[in-house]
Amino acid sequence: MKDEEVALFRKQLLDKLKVLKGDVNVLENDVARSKKDSATHDISKFADLGSDNYEVEFDMEMLETESEEIQAIVEAIKRTDDGTFGTCAACSKRILKPRLRAIPYAKLCVKCKTMEEENGGPLDL
Ligand SMILES: [Zn+2]
Repeated sequence: MKDEEVALFRKQLLDKLKVLKGDVNVLENDVARSKKDSATHDISKFADLGSDNYEVEFDMEMLETESEEIQAIVEAIKRTDDGTFGTCAACSKRILKPRLRAIPYAKLCVKCKTMEEENGGPLDL
């Protein structure tokens, strides 16, 4: 891949990272606030807090998903630095550009990704 193409993807990745990090900060604040709110409730009210706790758990799940995406983006940015960006981590073939345009942080080519999904879990790399 040409340097300027890699630079373009890198910019996209950084932009996405900024957006996601912004979102996660908001989410983290929300979770912190929910926890604080629960803590200020007196014990007698805890009996009917079921639904509130559920909400906090839901937020944490979202946080985890977003963090995984952030992790993938950070790794992709590293790959733009070490020159392996756009290369499949499993078979070392080039990842097709339409795939990278859709998922700039893709680390597997379509073939390996399909195999991974069929095997029902991440490849042991
Ligand atoms: Zn591959």
